[in-house]
Amino acid sequence: MQLKNDALFRQQAFINGVWCDADNKQTHEVLNPATGEVIGTVPMMGANETRRAIEAADTAQSTWAKKTGKERSIVLRRWHTLIAENIEDLALLMTHEQGKPIGEAKGEIQSGLDYLEWFAEEAKRVYGDVIPGHMADKRLIVIKQPVGVTAAITPWNFPHSMISRKAGPALAAGCPMIVKPAMETPYSALAMAYLAQQAGIPDGIYSVVTGDPVAIGEEMTTNPMVKKISFTGSTRVGKILMKQCADTVKKMSMELGGNAPFIVFDDADIDAAVTGAMMSKYRNSGQTCVCANRLFVQAGVYEAFSQKLAEQVRAIKVGNGLESGVTQGPLISKAAADNTEALVEDAKNKGATVLCGGQRVDADKNFFNPTILTDVNNDMRIANEEIFAPIAPIFKFDTDEEAVALANRTEYGLAGYFYSRDIGRVWRIAEALEVGMVGVNTGMLTTELAPFGGVKESGMGREGSKYGIEEYVETKYICLDIN
Ligand code: ADP
Repeated sequence: MQLKNDALFRQQAFINGVWCDADNKQTHEVLNPATGEVIGTVPMMGANETRRAIEAADTAQSTWAKKTGKERSIVLRRWHTLIAENIEDLALLMTHEQGKPIGEAKGEIQSGLDYLEWFAEEAKRVYGDVIPGHMADKRLIVIKQPVGVTAAITPWNFPHSMISRKAGPALAAGCPMIVKPAMETPYSALAMAYLAQQAGIPDGIYSVVTGDPVAIGEEMTTNPMVKKISFTGSTRVGKILMKQCADTVKKMSMELGGNAPFIVFDDADIDAAVTGAMMSKYRNSGQTCVCANRLFVQAGVYEAFSQKLAEQVRAIKVGNGLESGVTQGPLISKAAADNTEALVEDAKNKGATVLCGGQRVDADKNFFNPTILTDVNNDMRIANEEIFAPIAPIFKFDTDEEAVALANRTEYGLAGYFYSRDIGRVWRIAEALEVGMVGVNTGMLTTELAPFGGVKESGMGREGSKYGIEEYVETKYICLDIN
């Protein structure tokens, strides 16, 4: 890997401003999912190192919290500037560890920058309230204070921006954060730590602990010094963390799995719907929590939509994300490719037709051909599980009621998309979908300006927008007698 600035490639964890190894000196290897080659190692840390990071954060917290919003904002903006200046290297690092095409990697870093910029600005706007008194001599005041030490556990699909969305508001609000990145993609988080230090973020305010997810997660969720956990990942792990947080009653933000419906009504602009489906389904090899998971197409336009989508899907170029022209990288691991194969086999055995794709590119590699399945039904695994792969199952429906019932037939509730030009239908369907975010006539809805998050078993809490910083502050009510 040829970086302009080699210092961004860190193979140690970052605790209290110091680069360090695991106490027992153990490491684990990080693989390039496109080639299977070892990129490097990181420390295999556990509870002890995590506890030290938490204690350091606890010590550093009060000084950071006492700074003015503007002072914190200036430091965050410096971090933002340094990330922007190093975007080429950061994208290269990301493509090596995560696999996404270099253009998508830059796009993700830009999205992270947007969140960081937003929260650097919001640091100055953590407003309270003055409420008219309930008695003539009483004044009721509401202030917002940082929650204290926070911890984040982040996934491998967006190794950079998932951190900006959490560390941005935490640090802006006056809270230190300890990040545990996914084992597959630690280098993006560590590069951010290097730049955080260069930007003047004080020791202990942003630490990164790499290693054993169970041991680190247990310490983060049970240590009473940690006041808040922010997690993005699977619903299965989210539930474990919620249980572990119960004994110390921590605040939690949980951004969990999704099973997004993507509905195309017969009055839709079909070309626009195809473009939206391409963005929503195949971005990041289908490995995003807001990816269209199930496509529902009304009977009258089913054939036309499927054929037009297939044309576009056949034009996707699969390969190593470093090569020019590649528009889809590998899946994150061999296990992910195996599971994708099993999902397609299950669907085929239950009657699905493969319109395009349907198998791996090479038997022993992580690349999967972008796939469309038709003749699908609700008994198939693809109808019920988060797919996390470039497979689009297309279901047929007749009425609006049927579409809504199908869309909501899941324990998940993160994103939902639909295409229609009828204003009444747009309102009715947007209100009826049991999700936290709705895209109407668009397949992309993530922006730092809007609240990102889910309902049902997709989680709780919101990231981004004016609502995002609320997750990192406590509301304190002061009743003042003026006599
Ligand atoms: P994914 O399916 O996207 O890998 P996971 O929920 O398994 O989703 O992983 C998301 C994050 O949760 C990763 O950082 C992973 O290391 C971490 N993780 C996995 N298991 C646990 C656990 N038991 N406790 C804490 N963190 C965990």
